[in-house]
Amino acid sequence: MDILAFLRERAGAFRCPMCRRSLADCRLRQLDHDGSRYTVEVTCSHCELAFLVALELAAGDEAETVESGAEAEVEEVAEPISSDELLEVHRALDRLSGPLTALIRDRDGG
Ligand SMILES: [Zn+2]
Repeated sequence: MDILAFLRERAGAFRCPMCRRSLADCRLRQLDHDGSRYTVEVTCSHCELAFLVALELAAGDEAETVESGAEAEVEEVAEPISSDELLEVHRALDRLSGPLTALIRDRDGG
């Protein structure tokens, strides 16, 4: 499963939470992959806002289940994000000196 290609195909359907422009030509970087979980950093090519998208792909059958599972998550994340939440992310990233994956694990809470 090429998660970046998967997201790239759909990125045009989503807008940047900051500048509201299309994410069609955003930059995608896979940060973590643990089983069916992927964490991808999305960087808006217009305003350089970077945010994390967490995807959990349904296990088992690939194509269909995988697609619907991931799509649901993407839509959830792509909902307008309040500036408070963005601030939180920036603050968390600010504090973080280690790899970003540490932040993600922390958020999962076990
Ligand atoms: Zn933007």
